[in-house]
Amino acid sequence: MFDTLSDRLAATFKNLRSRGRLSEADIDATAREIRIALLEADVALPVVRAFIKQVKTRALGAEVSQALNPAQQVIKIVNEELVGILGGETRRLRYAKQPPTVIMLAGLQGAGKTTLAGKLGRWLRNQGHAPLLVACDLQRPNAVNQLSVVAERAGVAVYAPQPGNGVGDPVQVAKDSIEYARTKQFDVVVVDTAGRLGIDAELMQQAADIRDAVSPDEILFVVDAMIGQDAVTTAQAFLDGVGFDGVVLTKLDGDARGGAALSVAQVTGRQVMFASNGEKLDDFDAFHPDRMASRILG
Ligand code: GDP
Repeated sequence: MFDTLSDRLAATFKNLRSRGRLSEADIDATAREIRIALLEADVALPVVRAFIKQVKTRALGAEVSQALNPAQQVIKIVNEELVGILGGETRRLRYAKQPPTVIMLAGLQGAGKTTLAGKLGRWLRNQGHAPLLVACDLQRPNAVNQLSVVAERAGVAVYAPQPGNGVGDPVQVAKDSIEYARTKQFDVVVVDTAGRLGIDAELMQQAADIRDAVSPDEILFVVDAMIGQDAVTTAQAFLDGVGFDGVVLTKLDGDARGGAALSVAQVTGRQVMFASNGEKLDDFDAFHPDRMASRILG
């Protein structure tokens, strides 16, 4: 029983006598171990297949390395490929030339959007910005209140429709919030949108309408890392229905082994930009592809 991919690969190579250039037999033996480890990390199968193909091609053409044994060579290739899929460098937020910068959050209900709005608000404030959180989740009865509470804890301002004004129109709220931000000198607007428990045409349309109303500089797709390979279906639906520029993985403090990160990045071609790893406001950081690759590799 081997826990990590690194262990698996090291064990495989212990029985192989080859040195220097990797033989095809070496590579086939390692491909099996990589497949098992990635499936155990809950990476989606098509992503595993594409990944292994890529690693095989690179390993076969790899230069003989005097410094590394075959196991180390494969581990190096696997690591580089993982980091590559995850985007290489940490991707930073794009700010608008003319403030306010508009960041829209989209994702399923329970993904952690509202919590993230607070975390992002605090993070932006710590970076010297004046963020405004906007409550456009008018679907869930308590969502506006929840965002207000989160904003207060984060020490940032919130824009929310007044209670008692009926259900309200989230598109109008979003539009008005931009004007409000301009007049009150908030330089980043974070728009929290409604989620559903499943993918839903009406939800997608509403998010698309908000998008068209506020022309976000960044649309961030928020996804619970614990759902593993299921993240692919959700991500694809949001990509088709709303489109997004970057991904935020939440609940990485759970038992998530990184499958969601790899699957979403590979399938959508969008980078994970932030990682949320706890219920506290400070459990939040920029996403580092190299660290996630190490987590997957073990
Ligand atoms: P929303 O429906 O997308 O707005 O999701 P919420 O922000 O309401 O979060 C749903 C639940 O997940 C809440 O109980 C949060 O406290 C919890 N949550 C959010 N982010 C994290 C996280 O990074 N780690 C953990 N453990 N829980 C989280």
